Amino acid sequence: MVKSLSPDTPSVTLSATAREPTVALPAIGQGSWHMGENRAPRRDEVHALQHGLDLGMTLIDTAEMYADGGAEEIVGEALRGRRDEAFLVSKVYPWNAGRQDAIAACERSLQRLGTDYLDLYLLHWPGSVPLEETLEAFEYLQAQGKIRRYGVSNFDVDDMQSLHAVPGGDACSVNQVLYHLGSRGIEHSLLPWQRDHGLPTMAYCPLAQGGRELKHPEVRAIADAFGVSPAQVLLAWATRPTSDGQRDVIAIPKAVQPAHVEANAAAMRLTLDDASLARLEAAFPAPARKPPLDIV
Ligand code: NDP
Repeated sequence: MVKSLSPDTPSVTLSATAREPTVALPAIGQGSWHMGENRAPRRDEVHALQHGLDLGMTLIDTAEMYADGGAEEIVGEALRGRRDEAFLVSKVYPWNAGRQDAIAACERSLQRLGTDYLDLYLLHWPGSVPLEETLEAFEYLQAQGKIRRYGVSNFDVDDMQSLHAVPGGDACSVNQVLYHLGSRGIEHSLLPWQRDHGLPTMAYCPLAQGGRELKHPEVRAIADAFGVSPAQVLLAWATRPTSDGQRDVIAIPKAVQPAHVEANAAAMRLTLDDASLARLEAAFPAPARKPPLDIV
């Protein structure tokens, strides 16, 4: 069982399922894409995740895809001896999401991660395997105690509707999608649909992968006014509470540099005021029409 958060940690709550009670997760967790690819020394990647855990970013996101399992091995190394401190998320390739294949893929992920359970297992994106099969596998894995919850990633509104039409589909715990200041397409209809269904969002690429948004003059001006960095503004924006004060978006930035890890953890406690949000709205307006779901 994942350790409970300190009471002052801004959090997002996942609903109870038939098997699991509600769980509160930090509004900012940690990504792991490109870890295990020798872009940075392995030791630095392991330390970054451990440092993030120490600072309260206890949700760690990975996937069998990342570095062909290499990222799961880094995450496993970071969690050695402290597995119970983390809420561990991994993902299955759509072509591995069949009734038997998903079970085998999960076993391989567990082995690389050095653990006997995942807190959350996601279908990485919609594929050609019928959702019924994937959900059967997820339910089997849940009954075996190998996954605590399941969910999806890169699902648009029509995909979510199809999912909810399948037995077990409404037990989906999250949808993980691309969301940052420069890509707000989900706000048109996916985010409202998820809010109607009490389904939290996991925002991937919340820093736009280091893109132009971090250099935008309005973002920089707001960062300066708060005495923070542009990246922290982007994270506070992505995880901002709704108008009724609730949070339902968890951002999962990936960071290896220690200063980045520290900045991301600190961003959990940054609240942008209405005037700053309005300035960002003017600089990066949400789309008026529904765009196709943005992906990387
Ligand atoms: P991010 O938007 O998280 O950007 C990562 C980049 O930002 C890295 O270069 C990192 O540098 C840098 N960075 C991190 N923190 C800061 C900071 N405070 N200030 C300045 N720069 C910073 O991109 P990702 O693509 O990694 O997305 C996040 C995570 O989402 C992934 O790692 C993965 O877990 C998940 N994901 C899921 C997808 C899906 O299909 N479900 C698709 C894509 C991502 P450095 O590492 O050097 O510190």
